[in-house]
Order: sequence, then C-alpha cells, then structure tokens
Amino acid sequence: MKATLGRLPVYLRYLKELDPAENGNISATIIAKALGLGEVQVRKDLNSVSGAGRPKLGYKTSALIKRLEEVLGQNRISKAIIIGAGKLGNALLEYNGFANYGLEISAAFDIDENKIGNTEFGKPIYCLDSLEEYCKAQEIKIAVITVPAAAAQSICNRLTDCGITAVWNFAPCQLNVPDGILLQNENLALSLAHLKLQMNNQ
Ligand code: ATP
Repeated sequence: MKATLGRLPVYLRYLKELDPAENGNISATIIAKALGLGEVQVRKDLNSVSGAGRPKLGYKTSALIKRLEEVLGQNRISKAIIIGAGKLGNALLEYNGFANYGLEISAAFDIDENKIGNTEFGKPIYCLDSLEEYCKAQEIKIAVITVPAAAAQSICNRLTDCGITAVWNFAPCQLNVPDGILLQNENLALSLAHLKLQMNNQ
C-alpha cells in the first residue's frame, strides 16, 4: 500500500501534463511506458483506486485524474503541526512535498524563545504555550514530534490531550500513546544503518 501510495502522485502528475486536446482515454500500457514502470504494476495500482480500466480503451483520463486527487486528499488539505523547530523540524516545516498528499504543515511550536517568529518562507513558529489554543482553533489532528528524546513523551501526552489523533515521531525513543491514537516512528539513524547493513551483505 505504501509503495502504491508513493506512485500515485507520479501518475497524477503525468496525467495532468497530457495534452488536454487528446484528453480521452489512456491505457495502463501507455502510462507504464511513459513512466518506465511495469505494466502489471501500473494496472494493479490504478485498479486499486479507480476500478478496472475498460478493455482496449483503458481509463477515462479526466475521471482517473479526479479519482487520484480524491484518494490523495488534494481537494481537502489536512493541516499538521510540528513540535520542535530545530534543524529537522525546520526542514520538515519548509518541505513542499507534503502537498502531493493533501497535507500541509501549517506551524511549528518550540520552547526556545529565540526560535519564535516566521521561517524564511513565512511559516510561523509559535511558543509552546499556545499549542492547545492553536490545535483547538485549527482543529489539528496530526502532529510531528522533532524534540529531543527526553522531551518527547511529555510533548506526546500534551498533544493527545489537545485532540491530536495521529503522531509522527522522529525522536529516537519509544512513546506510549492511549488506545485509538496512531503512532508512526521514524528513526532516521536506524533507516540509514539498515541501508548500510544491506549494502555490506550484498
Ligand atoms: P538547534 O541547534 O537549531 O536547536 P537541533 O535540531 O540540534 O537544532 P534539538 O536539541 O534536537 O535541536 O532540539 C530540537 C528542537 O526542539 C529545538 O528547537 C528545541 O528548542 C526544541 N525543544 C526542546 N525541548 C522542547 C520541548 N519540551 N518543547 C518544545 N520544543 C522543545
């Protein structure tokens, strides 16, 4: 599912770049060839989001574009926040790629007064004191944790108290979350170490 999700924005970008004058039907074969992907893979991906293409005709391009936009949530942006506007937090705050998936990191929060203000591209970094008020007013459900490990659990508790239901944790530690809260851990060092291990085993 994650791999398919990774390819959906690629299909969408390709379909949107097609000449609107030729905007009728398109087959998985043509898409696969244009993107250098396997035909079976493309057909499987597209069938999973839009149902099977018609024999010989393939998919109606406009309907496929609409469906991909729907699945990717591009028409209803979900806002997320970051706690910890250090180097990693800032990089994520400024990253544009989330928009492909209907996500926007709208603000960051930090305890360090020197970090409060706007980033180079105008994203706000607020004082942690305003976390609860912001989450409530903006109905934020997703939060990214990029504080040091020692602060992560107390931040996580505070976030769930604010109504956050999904946490993407970059702090290298185990977090406990109440039932019903989604937690995804991202250990960057572990991912790189895993790649190195695979490389050494090749
Ligand atoms: P920098 O050197 O710019 O601070 P860094 O990424 O090396 O970057 P870290 O020590 O990893 O800094 O901390 C990440 C960020 O988390 C910092 O901006 C720090 O002020 C912030 N931070 C630390 N503890 C908390 C906390 N309890 N609540 C909110 N933010 C915190």
